[in-house]
Amino acid sequence: MANLLWFYSSGMVSKTMALTCENCGHSHQLTELAWRCAKCDGVLDLTGFTPEPPSLGTLAGRPATLWRYAEALPIAVPEDITLGEGMTPLVSTSRSGTLAKLDYLAPTGSFKDRGAAMLLALAKELGVSRVLADSSGNAGAAVAAYAARAGIACDIYVPATTSPGKLGQLRAFGAKVVAIEGSRADTAAAAANAADTPDVFYASHVYHPFFLQGTKTYVYELWEQLGGRLPRTLVLPAGNGTLVLGAHLGCRDLLARGLIERLPRIVAVQAAACAPLAEAFAQGSDTPAEVAAEPTAAEGIAIATPARGTQILAAVRETGGTFVAVPEASITAAHAGLAREGLYVEPTSAVCWAALEGGLVSDAEDSVVPMCGSGLKSYPPAA
Ligand SMILES: *Cc1c(COP(=O)(O)O)cnc(C)c1O
Ligand SMILES: [Zn+2]
Repeated sequence: MANLLWFYSSGMVSKTMALTCENCGHSHQLTELAWRCAKCDGVLDLTGFTPEPPSLGTLAGRPATLWRYAEALPIAVPEDITLGEGMTPLVSTSRSGTLAKLDYLAPTGSFKDRGAAMLLALAKELGVSRVLADSSGNAGAAVAAYAARAGIACDIYVPATTSPGKLGQLRAFGAKVVAIEGSRADTAAAAANAADTPDVFYASHVYHPFFLQGTKTYVYELWEQLGGRLPRTLVLPAGNGTLVLGAHLGCRDLLARGLIERLPRIVAVQAAACAPLAEAFAQGSDTPAEVAAEPTAAEGIAIATPARGTQILAAVRETGGTFVAVPEASITAAHAGLAREGLYVEPTSAVCWAALEGGLVSDAEDSVVPMCGSGLKSYPPAA
């Protein structure tokens, strides 16, 4: 309680901020630690916060991390938590007109550090003593690392079938691994149940809108690195859509301040083996399609029922963009091809490249593709 009071008086987070249900409009204080709407279970968005992206001229000399966009972020830089996340390199590729942004050079090896840093900064401000997450992949590793940094206890719920390598990384960060028998959905259900316990902060990359405030810096950086403009086309992977939605948010922020003239098109890429959003888009539907998911090498985006699916579809439509689904063989080929140009990423990170190489992206002459996750994550390779 003392901590919560301090939070309110510290002024590091605006008191007007709230988590508001996209469905019924019910709003929750940040201190309530809500992760979905208390009234209707809808997903929550951040309200009561107006980002003010700094102009290009004011950025010189600021630290080379995502915290350089302080005026656009909902929380101040936590000096004792930051690992220098953000400001990843933007490099050329073998495709002329397509640049690659190397987010796999993040502290834990994926873009999830952008969002996890934001979540744990908030958790620390709120004075919580324990956070919980339910990803065995990159999000889990990122949350576990920043929780370690923040000195906050961390429980990560994972399917019992999770590989020993991933469990090792989580445990190395000091997280308590809670292994759940059954399906991925059973793990999510167990985590949701635990998340409803009082005083637990659910550091969910899917549900907590602070995560998107972190991933939006992907676009801020691009804008700055390109000298104050964005490419015509952003090619992005879509599973739970945290990079798509963050990128969309970032573009909206820049547009609102007149720092760009129009939204770039977002081309969201799914694996054909699990493509509820691409199918919905093709059918003209506003909600994710029901799919029978097949196994895919792009395990990081194999999300059959994305909780923010409706938002993802709307965001991409608003940009005049589209969804594409890439077949398994082209993911494997793209993964190998990237390595042959010096980019060692995990298979999930190859889907956007597969879409480009497969000719599925129009307007690719001015495009940027993220290299989201390190190849070392999936080592040793299957073949
Ligand atoms: C999380 C992740 C994705 C997909 O992000 P979503 O938020 O699920 O859309 C893609 N690639 C890598 C490497 C990831 O870690
Ligand atoms: Zn609601």
